[in-house]
Amino acid sequence: MRLDFYLSHVTSLARKASKIAASKGRVTVNGVVVKKANYTVQEGDQIRLDEILLEWPSEGYYVLHKPVGYVCATEDPDHPTVIDLLPSHLGQDLKIVGRLDKDTTGLLLLTTDGQWLHRITSPRNACNKRYRIMLADPITDDALKQLEEGVMLHGEPQPTLPAVAERISECEIYLTIQEGKYHQVKRMMAAVGNKVEELHRDQIGPLCLDEDIEPGQFRALTDDEVAYF
Ligand code: URA
Repeated sequence: MRLDFYLSHVTSLARKASKIAASKGRVTVNGVVVKKANYTVQEGDQIRLDEILLEWPSEGYYVLHKPVGYVCATEDPDHPTVIDLLPSHLGQDLKIVGRLDKDTTGLLLLTTDGQWLHRITSPRNACNKRYRIMLADPITDDALKQLEEGVMLHGEPQPTLPAVAERISECEIYLTIQEGKYHQVKRMMAAVGNKVEELHRDQIGPLCLDEDIEPGQFRALTDDEVAYF
């Protein structure tokens, strides 16, 4: 894992402040001053900031292929939850990064790391989410244009932010949005007079859902993938 990424996880320093701390010679790895933020540290290294020994983080980061029928909640009296899909020793402290509806499938992130979750979900970070949408009716060029420019959602004071809408076939599109309002995609389609029949998320930021992860399966993210966000 990169040194700046490590520091931003185990100290109160943000990524930029971590880089500066290293460049000023405040960090040692196994007794040697390391000034390069992209230096790779690993579990077992003795890493000190201002001579204080830091611990290795034990956070968990997972990608799950959410199947239909599971709710994005830690507990639910009536439905199975996405947490039920993970072994119980992993599930205990996991937080769900954004929500997908019960009938939506696709890429769902789970983590124990609250700051990482916040970086993905905070509107300030404008993290793109791409959805593949099967529609009830053929999509018109005008509707694609409206979706890209922003539409008024029922009950919202402002139009949606600019999006990217790409036709796949007559009734199927990709829609990439930055926002994450309640039922946003379904409401956007309603705003252009159409209806979502099937909704699948296949990408968050640069992270794509693996084609070989079946619905209900999950895997741990690599350090590089964790560092995307
Ligand atoms: N927008 C929706 O309407 N539903 C989802 O599950 C995700 C985005």
